[in-house]
Amino acid sequence: MTPDPLSWIDEISEQRRRLGLERGLIPLGPGRTGRAEHQGGDLIDFASNDYLGLSGDPRVIAAAIREAERHGWGAGASPLVSGWKDAHQELSDALAAFERTEAVVLFPTGYAANLGTISALVGPGDAVFIDRLDHSSLVQGARLSGAALRVYPHGDLDRLVTALDRGRDRHRRILIATDGVFSMDGDLAPLPELVGIAERFGAMLLVDEAHGTGVLGPDGRGAASALGVADRVPIRVGTLSKALGSIGGFVAGSRRLVDHLINHAPTLIYSTALPAPAAAAARRALRIVVEEPWRRDRIQELGRRLRDRLRDGGYAVPESTGPIVPVLLGDSASAVTLSLALRAERMIVPAIRPPTVPRGSARLRIGLSTSHLDSDLDALVDAMVRLKPR
Ligand code: PMP
Repeated sequence: MTPDPLSWIDEISEQRRRLGLERGLIPLGPGRTGRAEHQGGDLIDFASNDYLGLSGDPRVIAAAIREAERHGWGAGASPLVSGWKDAHQELSDALAAFERTEAVVLFPTGYAANLGTISALVGPGDAVFIDRLDHSSLVQGARLSGAALRVYPHGDLDRLVTALDRGRDRHRRILIATDGVFSMDGDLAPLPELVGIAERFGAMLLVDEAHGTGVLGPDGRGAASALGVADRVPIRVGTLSKALGSIGGFVAGSRRLVDHLINHAPTLIYSTALPAPAAAAARRALRIVVEEPWRRDRIQELGRRLRDRLRDGGYAVPESTGPIVPVLLGDSASAVTLSLALRAERMIVPAIRPPTVPRGSARLRIGLSTSHLDSDLDALVDAMVRLKPR
C-alpha cells in the first residue's frame, strides 16, 4: 500500500487536541444582531464585530436586496475585467468623501486589502516595520511582499526608532504598518507619535482602521481621527465587515496611491470583486454612521459601564477605548473554562489563546454592539462575577 501523503495532519491534530487548542465551526441560527439561535434557544452574541448593529438593519438589508435585483448577487469577474459595477464606484466615492481623501478603492475583504496593499508598496530590498500585536493580515502582507520584516514590541516606539535608525541606509523603501485599534486588546496605537516618526524617517505609514471605522473619532473616521492625525496618515485601510455590517475592504488615500493599487495589488487584480449588493449595503450603512452619531455614544457608554463593573468584580481589564473589552485570565485553561461556562448560560464570549495573543495573556474578548440591551450587559456581568475563577 502506498503511504498516505496527508498522514502528517493526524499527528498535528492529535497534538492540538492534547494541548486543548482544537477549534471548530459552530453554525448559528437566525436572530437579530447581538443574538443568535442555537440548539433551540437564544444566545447573546458577544463575539461579533457588528459594532453598530447595522448588518441586521432593515435599511441596509433593503439596499442589498435592491442591488441584488439590479445586478445579481455575484460580481462575476475581477474589478479590472467586468466586476466593477456602479455600486462599487458609488461606495468608493462615498467612502472617499467620508474619509476626506482623494480616492478609495475596494478589495474583497479587509484581509485582502492589507495583503494586496503591502505587497504593492514594498518588495525585496525594502523593509516593513510592524507592531508585535498587529493583525495577521499585516504580518502576512509583509511576508508576501518579500520585504524584510521587522517587529517591534507592542507600542515600543524607542525600539522602533532604534531599528529605523539602523535600517535606513540598508533598505530602499520603508513602510510602517500598524493597527489603529489593536484587535485583541482594544487599545489605540500611539498614532500622533508614529506619524511624526514616519515623517522624520521618510517612511510610508499604513494604519489599519478595521476596528475604528464607524466607531471612533468625532465623525466615526477611526482611531487616527480620534487622535487628531487622520490627515497625516497617507495609507488608511478599512473594512466593510465590522461596523459597516457588510463584507469587503478598502484603502483610502491619494489618487496616485489608489491608481497604483488598482494596477499593482494582486488581491484586487486576481480576485473577484465583492458582490455589488455588499457594496450597496455598506454605502447605506455608511450613511447611517454619519446620520446617527448616537450609535457611537452608546458603544462608548456600554464599554465604560462594562469595564467598570468587571473591574469592581475583581477582573483584570486593561485600558481600552471602544467596543473591544479584553478580560485577562492568564492561562488558556481558565479562559476556556470561563468561556464554556458562559456558553452554558447562553452567552458567546470567545476565549483568545496563544498563539493569537502572547503566552500568559489568554483572555476573554468581549465585543459590544449597539444592539446589546442593558439587560444583556447585566446578564454578562452577573454571570462573570458568579463564575469568576478563584
Ligand atoms: N485588520 C484587522 C485589525 C482585523 O481585526 C481584521 C479582521 N479580524 C482584518 C484586518 C480583516 O478584515 P476582514 O474581516 O474584512 O477580512
